[in-house]
Amino acid sequence: MSEKTNKQYEVDKRYLRMALVWAENSYCERRKVGALIVKDQMIISDGYNGTPSGFENVCEDENNVTKPYVLHAEANAITKVAASSNSSKGATIYVTSAPCIECAKLIIQSGIRRVVYSEKYRVEDGCQLLQRAGISVEFIEM
Ligand SMILES: [Zn+2]
Repeated sequence: MSEKTNKQYEVDKRYLRMALVWAENSYCERRKVGALIVKDQMIISDGYNGTPSGFENVCEDENNVTKPYVLHAEANAITKVAASSNSSKGATIYVTSAPCIECAKLIIQSGIRRVVYSEKYRVEDGCQLLQRAGISVEFIEM
């Protein structure tokens, strides 16, 4: 590993650790996911999985099934950028779990160029779609 890539790897691990801490904000019982969007060495957005603003802070129904309107961490982080004066074009998203296919579509459309994640997901169609769109997808074991 060259000095530059090694340095990038250390930075990536640090942001992933922050995303893991951020995931603790989630009130979802089944799974807590955190995401950070970084551009030009600045965190421009963050997100964790949860219900939309104004809804009750409960993610699961009485059968412990995740409610259909729960937003994933990536979707929350990307829509937060949309509501701000920032742009996610060319940014990197750090997410504690591999993106699902729905979030992969949002990541592609938001102009994000790089995805770094730390936990594999049983279905890999999200990562495959990202790669098909030419987005760099990197897995770092935490
Ligand atoms: Zn998702």
